[in-house]
Amino acid sequence: MKNHPQTALVHAPRKAPQYIDSIQPPIFRASTIIFNNTDALFNRHWSDDYDYSYGTHGTPTTFTLGDNIAQIEGGQYCLLAPSGLSAINLVNSCFLSHGDEVWVSDNIYEPNMEHLRNLEVRYGIDVKVYNPIDVNSFQPTSKAKLIWLEAAGSVTLEFPDLIGLIEKAQAHDILTALDNTWGAGLAFNAFDLNEAHLSVDVTVHALTKYPSGGGDILMGSVVTRDKKLHQQLFRMHALQGICVSGDDVAQVQRSLASMQIRYQNQSQSALQIKDWLKTQTEFSQVLHPADPESAGYKYWKSVCTTEQSAGLVSVIFKPEYTMHDIRYFCDALRLFKLGFSWGGPVSLVMLYNLKDMRQLENTHLQQGLLVRFCIGLEHPQDLIQDIQHALKQLHQHKNE
Ligand SMILES: *Cc1c(COP(=O)(O)O)cnc(C)c1O
Repeated sequence: MKNHPQTALVHAPRKAPQYIDSIQPPIFRASTIIFNNTDALFNRHWSDDYDYSYGTHGTPTTFTLGDNIAQIEGGQYCLLAPSGLSAINLVNSCFLSHGDEVWVSDNIYEPNMEHLRNLEVRYGIDVKVYNPIDVNSFQPTSKAKLIWLEAAGSVTLEFPDLIGLIEKAQAHDILTALDNTWGAGLAFNAFDLNEAHLSVDVTVHALTKYPSGGGDILMGSVVTRDKKLHQQLFRMHALQGICVSGDDVAQVQRSLASMQIRYQNQSQSALQIKDWLKTQTEFSQVLHPADPESAGYKYWKSVCTTEQSAGLVSVIFKPEYTMHDIRYFCDALRLFKLGFSWGGPVSLVMLYNLKDMRQLENTHLQQGLLVRFCIGLEHPQDLIQDIQHALKQLHQHKNE
């Protein structure tokens, strides 16, 4: 039977052989997944892992990356989402119901806080804020369902009392969810934190950061070790139609091989830059979780067994520097680009007014405006020179 050109365009004569091997796995792009026959159609189990029935439920491409992420983080099961924030939303919408109480650290990733405040207004969920370095500020009631942890926390980078907080949560039968973006599964194992094998229940990871490594792909993951929790999440993931593009997954998969090397490199550069920043007179505080003077240092030391400490460092300018000055400084930087996110090749800078960001009294933080540096893959000496140059420009400007 000879087909018309119109049909020939749709049914290509040649297919890739099934068993050829390559360094990078083949990419599956699928909404439809073709069943071999009606038996296969009626025997499908989309709620099982690794059942291929429709693109939203996964392809070999997504399962390959998911397994990889779960393994790196020390977990067992992984679900992928189109962004880190979408992964956060999956956890919140899966485990929180009307009347529940959820605890978040004061230095939690800001959009997570905003997401929860939105749920608070619309669904009657009670959002409570704790100080990450003071376990006594975490006072759950019997309605408490979930606690969000972040190590180190966003922007001010305090490393929380992870062990103390998880132990207390478990004593009250509260689920623990860790935003694992900073550690990336490399700085510590969230599913095996001490000799007693203390473990969080769920990790969320913005794969947008270190796993992608390119500053170009958005993706998130939710990892668990507990089959029951995973099944709950899996169901919510399917109900909400959360899924990712095979092409994006392949990009992240390709970058994953170099993640540890990049993480290590950015960690070392950040430590070097942190030490230099501490010698400068413009700052009242330099914030880095692995600095012995930082709040939470002892907690960092207790769970992080390597020197790896990500590529982030923040500074608080002395109070005499105004917003105008800080803006001048950020605009004068040449290698550091102004933008959100981190983990890519290009160093980034972002400025914050701490006063607008924290809800609790934080006596360990100085008054002043904050600038966060996200260290890329440039030579640290060049980055230091860039900051030095921008500070010089700032002084000239102030003296004019
Ligand atoms: C960036 C980030 C997220 C969100 O990731 P997106 O992919 O940008 O939505 C979540 N948590 C932390 C700690 C982050 O830094």
